Amino acid sequence: MTKVLLTGGSGFIAAHILDQLLAAGHSVVTTVRSEAKAAKIREAYPSQAASGDLVVAIVPELARADAFDELIKQTPGLEVVLHTASPFHFNFTDPQTALVDPAVTGTTSILHAIAKHAPAVRRVVVTSSFAAILDEAAATSPATVFSEASWNPVTPADIHRSPATAYRLSKKLAEQAAWDFVRDQGDKIRFDLVTINPPMVFGPLAHPEHVGGLDGVNTSNQRIANLLRGGWKQEGGVPEVGVAWIWVDVRDVAAAHVKAGLEVPEAGGKRLFVTAGTYSNAELARIVRKRFPEHAELVPGEEALAAGEMPPEERRYRYDNSATNQLLGIRYRSLEESIVDTVKSLKKIGA
Ligand code: NDP
Repeated sequence: MTKVLLTGGSGFIAAHILDQLLAAGHSVVTTVRSEAKAAKIREAYPSQAASGDLVVAIVPELARADAFDELIKQTPGLEVVLHTASPFHFNFTDPQTALVDPAVTGTTSILHAIAKHAPAVRRVVVTSSFAAILDEAAATSPATVFSEASWNPVTPADIHRSPATAYRLSKKLAEQAAWDFVRDQGDKIRFDLVTINPPMVFGPLAHPEHVGGLDGVNTSNQRIANLLRGGWKQEGGVPEVGVAWIWVDVRDVAAAHVKAGLEVPEAGGKRLFVTAGTYSNAELARIVRKRFPEHAELVPGEEALAAGEMPPEERRYRYDNSATNQLLGIRYRSLEESIVDTVKSLKKIGA
């Protein structure tokens, strides 16, 4: 049994990490922003909450230099930290305070707190993103190969280019800050760092009843919720895939965190680029139409799907995540399995 701190336990990805950690018998302290969210998590795991194998703590705001100090000081024996909490939404007016500050300060505050107060921590896993790998300007060239070695060249000067760019900037700067921290601390710290860099994550909600209905669905599943509500048949039509047309299932991302944090010592110092491959919005629509005939009426017809197809070959980047696959040995779920399970979970909350 390992004692793990998992930040952002109410999140889409973190809820699956928590589920997998508890199922494997580990002891978990997880953080959320409110008592209401804490109570729901405790109710979902009554025996572990009662035994103390699950502790849910409140950390209300990431964008504070001392955000994690008290919690980590008061939690002896931590061995592994999985830092997933970071804003992923587009409901903001100021991307600096809404995205970049919590992403970066949340990451540096937890690293400082571990270095100061948690001498038994041996590994920290930070949830980064393909957003920290992608180069928007090179993404339409087949000469581009994104891999674990690629870094998004975006800088703070690009913050107002688009909401998506601002999010990518927040992830790039946060990941960069984490690598800078461990490099600068050198031998002064006893833990190493791993980052997990997933692209678009689909998959079922671990606790659909926790999100407060379809409007509360996490950002990366919103397009599927919108498809099921008939949104793709209305005004905006079938969304274009843009440059984010690689994906991975949430349960495989969660498994990657557990492996990287607890099971694969050689992951130390590595960026892990987990992806199951390509998808297009047209494919999502076809899977829903085929597997959920009761929703077929709400799915655009074949002639309308052209806008949601993959870009043509000559405008696609390539990617190579073979180093990650070799290290983790994950067998990724298929797109159809993932989307079917996503839809099933969204149907429980009104889709
Ligand atoms: P969610 O929005 O479901 O989870 C985000 C988590 O961060 C939630 O627990 C949220 O708390 C917490 N959080 C956000 N902002 C703050 C803040 N200012 N202070 C405290 N806590 C905060 O998204 P995901 O599960 O999808 O994302 C988890 C991580 O994975 C993020 O780091 C994201 O960037 C990364 N990622 C996600 C991808 C995806 O496609 N889903 C792809 C690649 C990376 P609350 O529940 O209270 O809102």
